[in-house]
Amino acid sequence: MRHVIIIGSGPAGVTAAIYAARANLSPLLIEGWQSGGQLTTTTEVENYPGFATGIMGPELMKAMRAQAERFGAEFLTGDVTAVNLTARPFSITVDGEQTVEAQAMIIATGASAIQIGLPNEKRLTGHGVSTCATCDGFFFKGKELIVVGGGDSALEEAMFLTKFATKVSIVHRRDKLRASKIMQQRAMKNEQIAFVWNSVVEDILGNDVVTGVRLRNSVTGKTTELPCDGVFVAVGHRPNTSLFTGQIEMDEKGYIRTHNGTATNIPGVFAAGDVQDSTYRQAVTAAGSGCMAAIDVERYLEREH
Ligand code: NAP
Repeated sequence: MRHVIIIGSGPAGVTAAIYAARANLSPLLIEGWQSGGQLTTTTEVENYPGFATGIMGPELMKAMRAQAERFGAEFLTGDVTAVNLTARPFSITVDGEQTVEAQAMIIATGASAIQIGLPNEKRLTGHGVSTCATCDGFFFKGKELIVVGGGDSALEEAMFLTKFATKVSIVHRRDKLRASKIMQQRAMKNEQIAFVWNSVVEDILGNDVVTGVRLRNSVTGKTTELPCDGVFVAVGHRPNTSLFTGQIEMDEKGYIRTHNGTATNIPGVFAAGDVQDSTYRQAVTAAGSGCMAAIDVERYLEREH
């Protein structure tokens, strides 16, 4: 039986572990088999305060984890397969076998990349279709690629991919980007990047590997084919909350609702990071809310136990 269990090992979960460990709550953090959250699939993080020249995402997560361990936080590797929030203590099943119990819980399970939803996207994943430029960019040396999306992720992925590819076309469904101004300026300046506006990817072409995409112009309705060797999908994220469906209050998009800091509708259960934030979704805001959750847990335990 633990004072507090944290589910999730991104900036929110690990920051919560640092604070909970320093508050002598001996936290147990359950990290999935893919530990470290979304920062482990990104390249350089330039806007995390304290790193004047930037830091690589995986390196930042490694340092945060070492910091939590230094104060005695324990890490358990495995995927949480079930939770029971209806009884006290709360119980959590890991990999379908091991069950752990806690007086309080911090949910920091983050969010995952959304796919376009095409059958060929699924079929060709790993054969030219990817959602992670950092992971797969290297395989596209000297090739032509497309990136789907108009947010910061799409632009960041595109710029990273120009290190390998000769040309990267950003295919966006509107004629205006959602990305921040600074990212827009950089991408527009990059001569290897082209923009394909008002275009929806209707199909991804290729038998064994990607050979192109079929695009539909969302204004004229006209379809065209654009040859390419790879398709990087960067169309946003969805919260990882399916484990909690029916047990905790969520909004219409599946994000956990929080109030008064990080409290959920269940006393003793707190949520931090992207799993409860569809607005800011930054590493630093996730870390900040992880800190808040640990402080909220500390006060809850003082009050109730
Ligand atoms: P996002 O901001 O939600 O952008 C998603 C993009 O994909 C939008 O342009 C959207 O088009 C498009 N889209 C969504 N569904 C689509 C579909 N089915 N088909 C085609 N296009 C589709 O997501 P994000 O870029 O992943 O960024 C998430 C958050 O992380 C943001 O807050 C962002 O600022 C942050 N972030 C920051 C950095 C950085 O600062 N360096 C880097 C990466 C991410 P519409 O515009 O038409 O809706």
